[in-house]
Amino acid sequence: MDIENKVKKLVTILVPAYNEEDVLNMLYERLRTIMDENSNYDFEVLLVNDGSKDNTLKIMQNLRAIDQRICYLNLSRNYGKETAMIAGLDYSKGDCVIIIDADLQDPPELIPEMLKYWEEGYDDVYAKRKSRSGESFLKKFTSKMYYKILQSVTNIEIQKDTGDFRLLDRRCVEALRSIRESQRYTKGLFSWIGYNKKEILFDRDPRAAGKTKWNYGKLINLSFDGLTSFTTAPLRWSAIIGILVSLAGFIYMLVIILKTLFYGVDVPGYSSTMVIILFLGGIQLIFLGVIGEYLGRTFYETKGRPLYFIERYNDEKETNKHLNK
Ligand code: UDP
Ligand code: MG
Repeated sequence: MDIENKVKKLVTILVPAYNEEDVLNMLYERLRTIMDENSNYDFEVLLVNDGSKDNTLKIMQNLRAIDQRICYLNLSRNYGKETAMIAGLDYSKGDCVIIIDADLQDPPELIPEMLKYWEEGYDDVYAKRKSRSGESFLKKFTSKMYYKILQSVTNIEIQKDTGDFRLLDRRCVEALRSIRESQRYTKGLFSWIGYNKKEILFDRDPRAAGKTKWNYGKLINLSFDGLTSFTTAPLRWSAIIGILVSLAGFIYMLVIILKTLFYGVDVPGYSSTMVIILFLGGIQLIFLGVIGEYLGRTFYETKGRPLYFIERYNDEKETNKHLNK
């Protein structure tokens, strides 16, 4: 037999985790079954502890002690899932990386199917939800509306009902790693990098245990990041609305001049003046806000700070010396 055929491919399973002490052991059991059943691959499970305040790190260390396939990365504080993911991608060694939530909402049992499509040559096999149990009507509705709006203003295709649960070939991983923007909106980046995509469908389970880390505030922030990092359309809308409003103002001015010429001075007019001043003032403030939003993003990016710091990788203390290169 050819010696090359004996070398197994390495699959990294990347798990960002923030305060997930209730589910990590359960997750490990499910992953272990999958890893043992697919022994034609080597596996690396990379757990990223995103500054948890509970025993998440301890559990990760215990897991590594019993199973050397487990690696863990401890970030220096909580950076948010987007950053935890890029940190994980930076430290992953696999020929492909599978990103999966810690809370078992993404069933690990889908992994063999993803691997099958990867072997067929797809670079990005993503899991699309058929259903979302355990989520409120309001959350489903707002997320649907948001995707509609986002899609209508961006040129790239945003995948609906798709989370971060997906398999990425090494070249996608390298592409994502090369993008070092600090205001990350990974969901859009997956589309932006392109490559061969394949969709598979699944039923999204409710969280196995613990609480969701998202609240409406965070979701609104994420949705602004999504809009502003993929399109400058709001800037253009501001300009267009500005032009329309000033055109209307100009026409109204002509009307007033003609009225004054033909009918003389018309003193009452306090309310219409007030309405116009308030209306225009409001519009100006909104558009200043829009410009500020983009300016703020530019400000963050120009600082060029590293995206994250690592406290330890596996059992080694990390000094982040690599950043001084
Ligand atoms: N997560 C993270 N850092 C954070 C918030 C969340 O790494 O600051 C992880 C979390 O542990 C989970 C995944 O991101 O593995 C998805 O989070 P969650 O289940 O709370 O989000 P939801 O499924 O409700 O959208
Ligand atoms: Mg979840």
